[in-house]
Amino acid sequence: MMAKDLQSGPPDLFGALGERVRSLQAEVGAVESKLRLTQTPPILVAVTKAVPQAAIRVSLEAGHRVFGENRVQEAWKKWPSLREDYRDIELHLIGPLQTNKVKQAISLFDAIETLDRPKLARALAKEGANGGRLPRLFIQVNTGEEANKTGVFPAEADSFLALCRSKLGLTIEGLMCVPPVDEEPALHFALLQKIACRNGLSCLSMGMSGDYETALTFGASHVRIGTALFGPRSEA
Ligand SMILES: *Cc1c(COP(=O)(O)O)cnc(C)c1O
Repeated sequence: MMAKDLQSGPPDLFGALGERVRSLQAEVGAVESKLRLTQTPPILVAVTKAVPQAAIRVSLEAGHRVFGENRVQEAWKKWPSLREDYRDIELHLIGPLQTNKVKQAISLFDAIETLDRPKLARALAKEGANGGRLPRLFIQVNTGEEANKTGVFPAEADSFLALCRSKLGLTIEGLMCVPPVDEEPALHFALLQKIACRNGLSCLSMGMSGDYETALTFGASHVRIGTALFGPRSEA
């Protein structure tokens, strides 16, 4: 980075970030009201994986409160101190959850969007039975049946949902998906919407920076946006 960038970079970047947060909130709202597809306005989940606290603070100061992180440990490093300053933060886990991190996860997150297997469902149910407050739960569906992705396959979604609800007594709020990068996302959003409809689920977490407008036309209740807000990340 050149010296000039160092001087003018960060303040400008952060100023622009506040603007982007507000304009994206407005955009999501505008698409929704144009389509009138959902009763409640969609929620913009600002994805802050690999985003430093300073940038997160800018979006908090701009009035944003709903955030997503994909790693439990990273979230634990960043969010407790932010929570002390902003009590009404809503934090979503959007990455895979190992059963040995369930306790840590439920004490930090308000929603877990990545419930994807019976073992995890049983671990969550056990915590609930022991008096733990459970976060809101979304089942992740691997709509593209990709080997390298987590989530239940579409054909297993109904029976997994039934297991969670009837056998384990979990309240499931919605479904989440991450479509394959090289396929038309609309097909995947339509599939997720269909599974949610036939199971009476009202929340659909789908759509990221590149495809959130399409997701909103298929009734997304939550869009998860990182890059379009915070810029490109250097992923570990
Ligand atoms: C990183 C991530 C996002 C945000 O992706 P962008 O393309 O940066 O908007 C959304 N959902 C999940 C599950 C992610 O891991």
